[in-house]
Amino acid sequence: MEVHQVEMVMSAVREAQYPTDGLPEVAFVGRSNVGKSSLTNVLINRKSFARTSSQPGKTQTLNFYKVENKVFFVDVPGYGYAKVSKKARESFAIMIGEYLRKRQPLKGIVQLVDARHLPSKEDIEMYNWLTSDDIGLPVLVVATKADKISRGKWNKVEADIKRELQFNAELSDFEIFSAETKHGKDNVWDWLEARMLD
Ligand code: GDP
Repeated sequence: MEVHQVEMVMSAVREAQYPTDGLPEVAFVGRSNVGKSSLTNVLINRKSFARTSSQPGKTQTLNFYKVENKVFFVDVPGYGYAKVSKKARESFAIMIGEYLRKRQPLKGIVQLVDARHLPSKEDIEMYNWLTSDDIGLPVLVVATKADKISRGKWNKVEADIKRELQFNAELSDFEIFSAETKHGKDNVWDWLEARMLD
């Protein structure tokens, strides 16, 4: 999709604040600093619309971006944020859980992992949960920062990540991505557009 119009519609901390336009939504999840804002900015052709994390883990709201009046990108705060209190983390986890489990317009989830490393314990837990019966939505695993790895290793990176995640090929797809070169951008958009029609 060629994107011309993006609106930051709202930051929500509870259900009553979610949009009511009835547009499909896709959520983006991943630990702080994995490259979530960079991916979203590439998808919407902006240099810095989604905030890049100067303060990792400080974003404590679900941020809804309306793209081309067709879809909401929902930025889910990065997990693994150490600076937040345990209590804040727990209440936030509950909100994210409610959103991911119950939100009817939510059509799919993009989970980012760092292509340079094996998925962390938290990445694996998140993936298992997203693909469990509890949520059971289509998941696109995006391995980002691929420019930092030579192309000859990309197949191995994909195989290693899938093995660690115990990749569920029925519910999920995989894409290697770089915000530097924009490699993978079209494939990610194809996946998103297919979900938007579901
Ligand atoms: P977020 O916390 O997940 O939103 O992460 P950001 O998008 O802010 O990215 C964190 C850092 O990684 C920033 O310094 C980015 O410039 C860098 N980064 C993100 N994506 C890529 C990528 O594909 N390639 C490279 N080389 N750096 C990236």
